[in-house]
Amino acid sequence: MQLTNTTLLQKDIFINNQWLPAEDNGTFAVYNPADGSKVADVANATVKETEQAIAAAVEVFKTWSSTPAKTRGAILKKWYELILDNANDLALLLTTEQGKPLSEAKGEVMYGASFVEWFAEEGRRTYGETIPSPVQDKRLITIKQPIGVVAAITPWNFPVAMITRKVAPAFAAGCAVVLKPAEDTPLCALALAKLAMDAGFPAGVFNVLPTMQAAEIGQVLTTHPAIAKVSFTGSTEVGRILMKQSASTVKKLSLELGGNAPVIVFDDAKVDVAVKGTIASKYRNAGQTCVCANRILVQENIYENFMNAYKKAVKNLQVGNGVHADVEIGPLINEAAVQKVETLMDDAISKGAEVVLGGKKSNAGDLFYEPTIITHCNANMRLSNAEIFGPVSAIYVFKTDEEAIALSNATEYGLAAYFFTENVSRAWRIAEQLQYGIVGINEGIISYTEAPFGGVKQSGYGREGSRYGIEEYMTIKYMCFGDI
Ligand code: ADP
Repeated sequence: MQLTNTTLLQKDIFINNQWLPAEDNGTFAVYNPADGSKVADVANATVKETEQAIAAAVEVFKTWSSTPAKTRGAILKKWYELILDNANDLALLLTTEQGKPLSEAKGEVMYGASFVEWFAEEGRRTYGETIPSPVQDKRLITIKQPIGVVAAITPWNFPVAMITRKVAPAFAAGCAVVLKPAEDTPLCALALAKLAMDAGFPAGVFNVLPTMQAAEIGQVLTTHPAIAKVSFTGSTEVGRILMKQSASTVKKLSLELGGNAPVIVFDDAKVDVAVKGTIASKYRNAGQTCVCANRILVQENIYENFMNAYKKAVKNLQVGNGVHADVEIGPLINEAAVQKVETLMDDAISKGAEVVLGGKKSNAGDLFYEPTIITHCNANMRLSNAEIFGPVSAIYVFKTDEEAIALSNATEYGLAAYFFTENVSRAWRIAEQLQYGIVGINEGIISYTEAPFGGVKQSGYGREGSRYGIEEYMTIKYMCFGDI
């Protein structure tokens, strides 16, 4: 990995704008999933550093929270510019520790940066209200205030964007943050911290704890009385644990958890649009996003046409190390991810699924899986209820709109859903009936800074991005003036 700006490769814990080795000098290795090579040994933060980071955040919150939003926004804008200036290096770092193709990594860096730019502005628009008083001698108003010190816990599948989507609105609102990035991808988090320091954030506003001890540190972050809010993106299973732990001190939570996205291809869909949208949703990041298509439901009258075109397109996807141009499918993140896909495939095949493309590990390397299509899927298969998180298209057939809706909603998850139709009244009807926080209509790419991202049901709650994103980090104070 040849970075132009070598200062982006940081390996220590970041607290109070200082780089600290772990107290016991413990480290853990970060590997490149494309070839298994070691990228770096990174300091392994423990409970002690977690408490230190919280103390730093508590201290700076006293002044950061009352710093004018415009001043905070100016620092965020500077951070945004530095991220853009270093976009190529950040993308390379991202591909190296996470595996996604370089073009996708660059796209993620730009998407990640867009939250910083957006919330630099949104911080200035956190208006309160004046409320018409029901009595003569009183005046009622509200103001919005930063909630306090925030703990953010992020996953490995978007090592840049999942961080900026949380910390940018938190900073803009006036909060200080203690971030625990995923153990597979701490390097992007540390690079972002370096650029944040260069941008001029006061010491303690942003603290980053790379660690292998997620559960132990999660325990501290969710029970410490000085933390007001926990924002988490990851599995529903871990979300439940964090929610339970946060109950002891009644923390505010934002949870962006697992998904089980249906893609519905109705018989009046444009085949080329449906194929393009389904591929975009299914195969981005080798299928490792929480909004990736998990179940592809195809209406029987369009089945043959859709499948012919879809097979052709999936077959053309280039698998390989993401640093090479033209590669579209990189490796899975680790061995456990490959095993999960293999287990789900074995289960589906044992229950009647037919492999029409791929269906096994790729010879590109240990962690690569071939772009795969299986047909004859049904609700009894485990992959109908579990996130596949791999490049496997599971195809189901349906007859009526009612059946498609029932199948789509038959899951505990409710993050993203997609469908393809040219019929506008059908589009309204279906969109309203899907129990999902996000619906893509004739479109597989739906994430934008300007739009609210988040789920319903056990996909969690809270919204990230958009004008709603900053609300997650603020509280409303109502003031009643009497004797007027
Ligand atoms: P995934 O299956 O995508 O890896 P996880 O929910 O396991 O999702 O991980 C998402 C984030 O949650 C990572 O930063 C991980 O280290 C962290 N994490 C995992 N288990 C816990 C836990 N018990 N407490 C706090 N954080 C955790």
